[in-house]
Amino acid sequence: MRYIVGIDIGGTNIVVGTVAEDGSELVGLVSAPTISEQGAEAVIERIVKLARASVAEARGTPNLGWTNFPLRDRLGQALGLPATLDNDANCAIFGEWWRGAARGSDYVVGLTIGTGIGGGIVLGGTIYRGVSDVAGEIGHMSIDSNGRRCKCGNDGCLEAYASGPAIAARAVEGMGTGADTSLPRYVNGDLSKITAQIVYEAAHDGDQYALEVVHDTAKFLGTGVANIVNIFNPEVVVICGGVTLAGEKLFAPLRGEVKRRAFKPAVDACRIVPGELTGTAGVYGAAAVFVQRTLGTV
Ligand SMILES: [Zn+2]
Repeated sequence: MRYIVGIDIGGTNIVVGTVAEDGSELVGLVSAPTISEQGAEAVIERIVKLARASVAEARGTPNLGWTNFPLRDRLGQALGLPATLDNDANCAIFGEWWRGAARGSDYVVGLTIGTGIGGGIVLGGTIYRGVSDVAGEIGHMSIDSNGRRCKCGNDGCLEAYASGPAIAARAVEGMGTGADTSLPRYVNGDLSKITAQIVYEAAHDGDQYALEVVHDTAKFLGTGVANIVNIFNPEVVVICGGVTLAGEKLFAPLRGEVKRRAFKPAVDACRIVPGELTGTAGVYGAAAVFVQRTLGTV
């Protein structure tokens, strides 16, 4: 059995794992903070170290801001291994198709919700890339033509409402109007420390205001997913990332919103599910992309 080192370079963390060629095994899983502000050279060094650690461990157990940096070639040289490179959200959804919640389906669309919202489209076992490689930017579909400003420069993108930081920002903004909530107690009164995860935690603890924020999030995501369902008629919509921590409190109203908005035959045929490969979807997907590019099939 041959093994592939999957490297997931995120805005916050780098995750590296060594994956069996057929996806049956993931070993040597290691991670470290990205710290992209230290520059490309420092991050390359960190990736090489992680990749070596992952390979060593495997043997022992049978949005970055760079432009035109030759990442694939530099890593390949440093590690002495053939390398390939792809978009992190594409890889995450490809990983969920290969070994996770969307396994075996021919029509898959997915979202990864974290610092931003990424997306991926997997049709017939292949990532759909579009004519210039930017297909699947689901986070930047407009859900309100006059809505909140997005980092991409557009107004009203889904990401501006339902990314982790956007969920926290909406929660804090709403509190300004005198909401009755226990949220400040979770952060010792320092509202700048509120995160999406804290909002889910408070919702689980029964805080009505936090629950409202989760319901609003479900409504925004449901609007986006309804558009996806109408356009792609997918068999599976897989939603990955920290947002899955909100569980059924999020997924139940989200499915309700999709049902309310999208065409019935499309809704009836579609499963909307959380990702299964928590934290490792990108690693699996990167390995699967490599297998597909070198062997032609996964
Ligand atoms: Zn945008």
